[in-house]
Amino acid sequence: MKTMANKRSFAKAKDPRKQYPELRAALRKRVMAMSDVCHICGKPIDYSLPSNHPLSFHMDHIIPVSRGGSVYDIDNLAPSHRICNMRKSNKIPSDNMKTIDNPTPISRAW
Ligand SMILES: [Zn+2]
Repeated sequence: MKTMANKRSFAKAKDPRKQYPELRAALRKRVMAMSDVCHICGKPIDYSLPSNHPLSFHMDHIIPVSRGGSVYDIDNLAPSHRICNMRKSNKIPSDNMKTIDNPTPISRAW
């Protein structure tokens, strides 16, 4: 009669990138300390730019998370420009994710 044991352990699967914000912040610092050059285009990154700026710093996953790359492994992270990261993810040819041709329906008022 112990079928209902450990009900609490069934945590909902969330987007792993949105979990552990503190760890993410720490990794961000480590990636920033790694280099100030974008690993995609080879140009310097201005860390003083606001995060919504296209040339601002962005943590890039070398192996995309969608392809099984590790989210929090420092070896899978490299500094990049935000725009380069976005371009790169759109460039993967054999991917099913057609982010470019798929206009995101925004139902939320931000
Ligand atoms: Zn770049």
